[in-house]
Amino acid sequence: MPEGHTIHRLAAHHHAVLGGAQVVATSPQGRFTAGAARLTGATLAATEAYGKHLLHHYQGGPGGGILHVHLGLYGTVADGPGQPPAPVGQIRLRLVGGPAATAGAAARQHWLDLRGPAACELLTEAEADALRDRLGADPLRDDADPDTAGGRIRRSARPLGALLLDQTIVAGVGLVYATEVLFRAGIAPTMPGRRLTADQWQRIWADLVTLMRIGVRRGRIDTVRDEHLPEAMGRAPRNDRHGGEVYVYRRAGQPCLCCGATVAAGVLAARNTYWCPTCQPG
Ligand code: ZN
Repeated sequence: MPEGHTIHRLAAHHHAVLGGAQVVATSPQGRFTAGAARLTGATLAATEAYGKHLLHHYQGGPGGGILHVHLGLYGTVADGPGQPPAPVGQIRLRLVGGPAATAGAAARQHWLDLRGPAACELLTEAEADALRDRLGADPLRDDADPDTAGGRIRRSARPLGALLLDQTIVAGVGLVYATEVLFRAGIAPTMPGRRLTADQWQRIWADLVTLMRIGVRRGRIDTVRDEHLPEAMGRAPRNDRHGGEVYVYRRAGQPCLCCGATVAAGVLAARNTYWCPTCQPG
């Protein structure tokens, strides 16, 4: 599942290519026909990412409103300039932006296809507020409230590896960031939240902000410090479909980049987890 940095990238990209454009919306697959009809003729005024949720704010048109998308496990978005290609596969929503009522409008024409999302719906402002209220602190948002998130974590008996994945506590963090930030903190994912000190939480939060901002810039998750990069260690770059240089995520059985111990794997809250038994003593 894409983590928050991917959704924040999408929000920024969609604003760059469709912001200010009037859209024609269709649902080639037919599962969002009524919603698409309400969007057609509206203008994309703003985009927003909150955790793993993407919001498009539309104004004008017959219905307008807020388009809410959650990609879930299988959702994908594609886009491109000019005329859209002939529809292939199950396209839930196709947006074609422009021509906007400005000079040089043709150059701004752009299409966007959404396939396989877990959620694709129109929300009212009140419903969007309710969605935001359900979500925890997003390290990539300026309005994040890390103190509330930290308080909840530090009162919980649940393991940290599960708490960091709870979207009602911390929004946008997925398995890779949760796994890696705990490695970097030297804390086992099995440690109960209530054993975390306030100081440790502040460092974890600051690290999430730093790492996820790097993720937004690069479009991939890199978590290793300079001294552990392939060129610094004289090792081969990581070869994994998840990309990025990481310490322990999906590295079970391989040597820890810091201490050489064998990276361990286990299941925590029904998700795979990885840690170094030496660097992250339980
Ligand atoms: Zn280690």
